[in-house]
Amino acid sequence: MSDQVDVVVIGSGINGLVAAAELAKAGWSVALLERNDLLGGFIATEERTLPGYLHDTYSSWHPLFVSGPAYAALGEDLHRHGLEYRNTDYLVTASVADDGRTTLAYRDPERTAGLFADSRDGEAYLAAVNGFLKIAEPFGALLGSELRSPSTILKGLKLARAAGIGLLRDTVTSGRAYCRREFHGDEVDHLWSPWLLHAGLSPDHAAGGLMIPVLAATMHGFGLPVVAGGSTGLIEAFGKLFAELGVQVHTGTHVERVVVEGGRAVGVVAAGRRIKARRAVLASCTPTALVRDLLPRDAVEARFAERAERFRYGRAAMQIHVALSEPPAWSDALLGRIPLIHLSDGSGSTGIACAQAEAGLLPAKPTVVVGQQHVLDPSRVPRGAAALWLQLQEVPFAPAGDAAGELDTSNGWTRELADAYATRVLDRVAAHAPGLAATIRAVDVVTPVDLAAHNVNAVHGDPYGGAGELDQSFLWRPGPRGTVPGLWHIGASTHPGPGLGGASGHLVAQRLLG
Ligand SMILES: Cc1cc2nc3c(=O)[nH]c(=O)nc-3n(C[C@H](O)[C@H](O)[C@H](O)COP(=O)(O)OP(=O)(O)OC[C@H]3O[C@@H](n4cnc5c(N)ncnc54)[C@H](O)[C@@H]3O)c2cc1C
Repeated sequence: MSDQVDVVVIGSGINGLVAAAELAKAGWSVALLERNDLLGGFIATEERTLPGYLHDTYSSWHPLFVSGPAYAALGEDLHRHGLEYRNTDYLVTASVADDGRTTLAYRDPERTAGLFADSRDGEAYLAAVNGFLKIAEPFGALLGSELRSPSTILKGLKLARAAGIGLLRDTVTSGRAYCRREFHGDEVDHLWSPWLLHAGLSPDHAAGGLMIPVLAATMHGFGLPVVAGGSTGLIEAFGKLFAELGVQVHTGTHVERVVVEGGRAVGVVAAGRRIKARRAVLASCTPTALVRDLLPRDAVEARFAERAERFRYGRAAMQIHVALSEPPAWSDALLGRIPLIHLSDGSGSTGIACAQAEAGLLPAKPTVVVGQQHVLDPSRVPRGAAALWLQLQEVPFAPAGDAAGELDTSNGWTRELADAYATRVLDRVAAHAPGLAATIRAVDVVTPVDLAAHNVNAVHGDPYGGAGELDQSFLWRPGPRGTVPGLWHIGASTHPGPGLGGASGHLVAQRLLG
């Protein structure tokens, strides 16, 4: 490790990777320091169940990456180094209600809207998707900007002119209320309310009215790309790009402190060693860790320290990986062709499950996100076999009880509780895929406690680096600067928030490159 570089990047999640690559491409010397033994943060592929089954342990779906500015900047390099995507151009997602009613989304929005029972809803849906597409460019420009900067005012005005006051109304509206206001039937609610979980929201949180058209337009426009062979392929491509660009990569290296001299961040201390950063330090961490652990106490203004202390974390998540001997025999055969399905009645059941989790309870009827990556990429499972990537986003970190009154939560996330809850979830899947149990070869459960242990940024098992409600988004999300000159804050905790877009890493790299 050399003792002096232009930039030190702390943390190798997508934002750290993007920032390191973009700065190194511009000729800056970069050291990337990661406390885990492998790069990637919440990007990893492992044989978690049986040999031959490649499970994306955490994140998997890359629509945010391929639709974002970081991919525009680095995509060509990453593909040159082996990154390949598999996607769908047919069915993209679906919701299945308890009674088996299924609402489908195709890549084609017109085909999707054509299935709605009330033709007025089909028209309103297409108007909402097309309405967002018309403002997608100024919207994206604003999201990709440092919001507390004068140049952003112009971008905001441009967006306001293009979108009108309706956008503001949708932004303060919940997903549930938006669907009731805009549609007569419940297909849009059924299909897209569970997707709000992926934005860190619940159906009753403000901003859902904004996010439903955004999510729908993104799925129709970009599908659900997954990395061929598993998400680790993205990390491998970054690794090769780093080798080409001379980025110094140090895994197993926890950064203990940011060094501040003369009121400016000038380097870090990691593994007892000091590394000087001539131009900048980029920290991909939570505001809590930045202020409590990394910065000297007197380096931070009191109002910033207080904001960081009060930063709120969201619901926890968990993952269940299932190795199957054969694809599930879904009651509706079309489900066997869909990469990502939600088991939910829409805002009804998802709203209840969110409320139960936020009250500290294990939901009685959780929304189950059923990922079937093998549909897009059969290379991830043995020939003829299948795997399920089950995600739960309505989970308490410290369960205080079970909403169904069945499970003992008094000892927290023990293996027994994890397995018992996984059984509840698998039963929910089996209700729509008869005979599933007989095809299960192995199950692996990643609890909220496991998430927090893998990634220090997942405080209380929150997969999104902080609650994503409106009062903690946009202007009210941290960063990218604000504490100490020379120090830039990136990652899911900062604007524009979580997901694999790499937007905050890109934003800071571009600011530094002027
Ligand atoms: C289970 C799960 C599934 C998800 N699925 C998807 C999905 O399919 N699609 C999607 O778009 N998003 C998904 N997300 C969200 C997405 O994965 C995250 O928002 C995103 O990966 C966060 O990236 P990041 O750049 O903030 O860094 P992170 O991935 O949070 O990584 C931060 C890294 O910084 C390191 N670090 C922190 N502090 C220090 C320190 N002091 N010294 C050294 N290293 C440090 C950590 O060890 C970690 O490796 C999912 C998240 C989870 C948990």
